[in-house]
Amino acid sequence: MQQWREVKARHPDALIFFRVGDFYELFNEDAVEGSKLLGLTLTSRNNGSSKAPLAGIPVHALENYLRRLVGFGKRVAICDQVEDPALAKGLVRRAVTEMVTPGAVFSDALLDSRRNNYLAAVAGDAAGEGDVGLALADLTTGELTVRRVDWDELPDVLGIHQPAELLLPRTWELFPLPGAGKATLTYRGDWLFDPRGAAEELTRHFRVANLAGYGFESGDQWLAAACGALVSYLGEVQPAGFAGLRPPRVERPGTAMVLDEMTRRNLELVETLRGTGADGTLLKVLDEPCTPMGSRLLRRWLLAPLLKPDHVQARLDAVGELFDDDGMRRAVRDALGGVKDLERLAVKVGAGRATPREMLALSASLSRVPPLMEALAPARASMVAVLRDGLEAMDDVRGAIEAAVDPEAPVSLGDGGVIRAGHHADLDELRSIRDGAVDWIARLQATERERTGIGSLKVGFNRVFGYYLEVTRLQSDRVPADYHRKQTLANAERYYTAELKEWEEKVLGAEERIGSLEQRLFAELRETVAREVPRIQRVADHVAVVDVLAALAEVAVVRDFVRPVVDGGFALEIRGGRHPVVETMMPREDFIPNDVKLDEAARVMILTGPNMAGKSTTLRQVGLIVLLAQVGSFVPARAAHVGVVDRIFTRVGASDNLVRGQSTFMVEMNETAAILHGATPRSLVLLDEIGRGTSTWDGLSVATATTEHLHDQVGAKTIFATHYHELTRLDERLAGVVNFSVAVREVGEDIVFLRRLVPGGADRSYGVEVARLAGLPESVVDRARQILQELEEQSAAQARGGAPDPTLQLGLFDGGGLPHPAVERLRQIDPNAVTPMQALVLLADLVKQAKG
Ligand code: ADP
Ligand code: MG
Repeated sequence: MQQWREVKARHPDALIFFRVGDFYELFNEDAVEGSKLLGLTLTSRNNGSSKAPLAGIPVHALENYLRRLVGFGKRVAICDQVEDPALAKGLVRRAVTEMVTPGAVFSDALLDSRRNNYLAAVAGDAAGEGDVGLALADLTTGELTVRRVDWDELPDVLGIHQPAELLLPRTWELFPLPGAGKATLTYRGDWLFDPRGAAEELTRHFRVANLAGYGFESGDQWLAAACGALVSYLGEVQPAGFAGLRPPRVERPGTAMVLDEMTRRNLELVETLRGTGADGTLLKVLDEPCTPMGSRLLRRWLLAPLLKPDHVQARLDAVGELFDDDGMRRAVRDALGGVKDLERLAVKVGAGRATPREMLALSASLSRVPPLMEALAPARASMVAVLRDGLEAMDDVRGAIEAAVDPEAPVSLGDGGVIRAGHHADLDELRSIRDGAVDWIARLQATERERTGIGSLKVGFNRVFGYYLEVTRLQSDRVPADYHRKQTLANAERYYTAELKEWEEKVLGAEERIGSLEQRLFAELRETVAREVPRIQRVADHVAVVDVLAALAEVAVVRDFVRPVVDGGFALEIRGGRHPVVETMMPREDFIPNDVKLDEAARVMILTGPNMAGKSTTLRQVGLIVLLAQVGSFVPARAAHVGVVDRIFTRVGASDNLVRGQSTFMVEMNETAAILHGATPRSLVLLDEIGRGTSTWDGLSVATATTEHLHDQVGAKTIFATHYHELTRLDERLAGVVNFSVAVREVGEDIVFLRRLVPGGADRSYGVEVARLAGLPESVVDRARQILQELEEQSAAQARGGAPDPTLQLGLFDGGGLPHPAVERLRQIDPNAVTPMQALVLLADLVKQAKG
């Protein structure tokens, strides 16, 4: 118990799995928690005068329980016996050999091969000043990247990578870190994040003189702090040392777009609006890589569109070449077909965890590299050529594995038969001794039957008693004198002879020596290969990029995408654009392509049309096409010209917003405010039914003011989908506004959706017709039509009387006579002292007041 208490004191935030014989025991509070989470039976043990709770799991079931605990975001310290119980004097020594936490899991059974599992560390000024350092590591692939992130941007960056575990300074426990999501939060002493000490930890771990070689610059102290803290923490979770981590790669801002949460979700990039499933996402449509590394890289690319036209160009050239050359693409994908998870295999070899089967998977994967190099031989695009030239055949590593490991090797080293025959003379000899003895024993049955005349005599083996001769109880008085009784069963007796015992010792002695020799030879092989891990990782990197490029080309061919023209200009022009996901949900010819053009002269598009016409689809398809183009992919269109954008903002009005059931007008306005703050002339702003979460007049007013601001102040390319057809009047006084609508045709009392974008605004909303299409009873539809007509007549009468129309600037307040209370309030506002957010809320309020 003293031992347990010591371990618990050192790992107070972990469940201690305390090895006792064939069980891992949980004690005290751990036992109580474990029984709750895992449904373990809670027992108790005598602890002096009192009883202490106790629960246990069998050693062989460890993985299963770990999976569940990690799923709950728990940390587990595995406390093993570190000396042989048979040799120990007094208590067997125990120590924590490994910590399993959500960010530090290695077992394939606990991981998703198609996405990274990140452990992140953040360091920075707790006062929220300046920017923070973020280090992201995937311990299963060895990847380690660091970057500076603005405090305000941190939630988005964390949201993109969704770390499983987040390492933070202890004092940050006091304030919630936005964007942490479902990450398990691990707090460690602030000293671990001290820039100076952390930098020393890094240079020690990677055995370098300083960090300049990795691209750290003088102002990067928080980068070093985060990265160093992460490396120190690694020492805690892997006390025996962890060799698989690659040197940090510094990522500088300005090369990739940061996608905020709403945009990621509304465009359904890697998750749908409704849930977490991959179906219905852009990722799902593109997810054609042949290897797990490729799949993980594709996901990272999709969430980090490029900002520099020449970077995009390089990828497009590469995809283009693989698109044009069917033979090359097919050969490349054939070669990639046999490649397993090289990244994770490399780390396992480096950490000394690779099993015989995994070594075979490694060599089989490497054997695909020469055909891949050959397939890429004709490539001219510079990116593909560079990738090809960075590959190497790795014959030495593959040869070493193939020479040593039996192709039929079992999963586990302990099962024997791992080292191939002919590899090692001593091993071969031991095996022939063993096999000879086994053969001799097998022949024994025939000779003994003859000698004794007992026809039912059998030779058998079990783990406890070894080899025996078995005779039924009835025949047992006929056995010869040299038979010695070994074991008595209900119906039979088991015997041995001196000769059998001698041969048995030969078998078992050889068996034991074979086992230890195999262990040794395999460990040597693993060490040899471990020295080549950096080379394997380089190959893995190159393979992953080739895989993604070939996958993008494949998708482009199969789905009929075209190469976009990408440049630094302002204009966006899409001809025959399609929604890459929606089009897969219907027969190909049913999806109606549309043209969209935004440029300096017409940068704000008001998109109207009845419900279900296709406004949201068109809006999202523009966002997706721009994003795909900047990722370096072909796009679903007949032709596309994309001037790179610095951000894509997407907002969906409250009632359309499926993400937050509880979504309020406030949230919607918050998000709109964030756009008005963050957008630049180079941004793409996609607004879908903003202003819907409140009454019509409020909503219309906010929508109008937002559009004006985007048009006058920001100048960003904007598409505003709305069913407020009143907004279409904005083009009368805002030069850069154009109206488009999604066409419908009236056929008698019905409407037909044409799904075609046409210039000009919709003149009505066809709500009654849509209601009818939706199956409302005919009588209700008729009554609705009647009411609508009355309302329209009233409103026309009002219009003749000069009634308010909020889309006409200030028309609201110049009625003469007594000042309206709203006007009074307006006079008291200092426009320079309110934020855009406050202004919007205020505006909504004023409008309400104005209406009385
Ligand atoms: P809105 O936003 O105008 O209410 P949506 O964009 O949600 O309409 O579209 C409604 C449905 O119409 C979509 O689910 C899709 O099935 C179909 N649709 C939209 N655009 C197209 C198109 N261009 N071609 C074919 N079907 C379309
Ligand atoms: Mg819609």
